[in-house]
Amino acid sequence: MIELPEAITLGKQFQKTLVGKIVTDVYNATSLHKFAFFNGDPQGYKELLVGKVVQSAEGYGIFVDIHFNDGITLSLFDGINAKYGDASSKVPDKYQLLLTFNDNTYLAFTVAMYGGMYAYKGEFENKYYHLSVESLSPLSKKFDEAYFDSKLAQEKKNISAKAFLATEQRIPGIGNGVAQDILFNAGIHPKRKIFTLTDADRSALFHSLKETLQAMTSLGGRETETDLFGNKGGYQTILSKNTYKLPCPKCGGSISKEAYLGGSVYYCRHCQKLE
Ligand SMILES: [Zn+2]
Repeated sequence: MIELPEAITLGKQFQKTLVGKIVTDVYNATSLHKFAFFNGDPQGYKELLVGKVVQSAEGYGIFVDIHFNDGITLSLFDGINAKYGDASSKVPDKYQLLLTFNDNTYLAFTVAMYGGMYAYKGEFENKYYHLSVESLSPLSKKFDEAYFDSKLAQEKKNISAKAFLATEQRIPGIGNGVAQDILFNAGIHPKRKIFTLTDADRSALFHSLKETLQAMTSLGGRETETDLFGNKGGYQTILSKNTYKLPCPKCGGSISKEAYLGGSVYYCRHCQKLE
């Protein structure tokens, strides 16, 4: 799933790889996916995109935008995997959208659990898109401890730390994936109610949020995700589907896994305090 570190990484890779290329053709899905979302009828994407030149690309929050001339944008959202290839590499059999370019390269999009590929001219009306683009990024300097505290203070006191971090896009780009290590590094249980956080806990959560996201982003995303060229990210997750059977790296105890608020949470009962 695209979360902030992957959005930024993919945005940079698109920018470096695609700028100046002209779209020569657009192919629609080769297989039906119930949770692949488009802006209107994807059959219309060909007319919208063919002949357009990539001008820039950028990732923010849980979206990556590819901008073309003539005010056209393709916004990719959440569970999208992008694969780039040239004439020597095989186009995947199953894809949800495929663009070809004038230098015989292609960009194929597949969808994991769910994801969006929204092509449009001008503005895109989508709540999560606006949150991603317009909210202060947790990587920015302006996202400081005072700002973080004010975000916390706006919330209902009985929501949990995971709900605060990873639902509703209160903080753009944080989802179920990156939240695991943020909570682990802060020593806070995913189900911990935010009203029980002490000043020291709040501060630990703020610093963990900044530092964990910065590490994930600097290393090109998490190793649980792949980039435009099919390479895994360079950040090794502490807690994820890849690691939860290993002992806790702090105390050596076992890691717990349970379903909670749309996705599995992984945590150490000993190192992440519930109250
Ligand atoms: Zn532990």
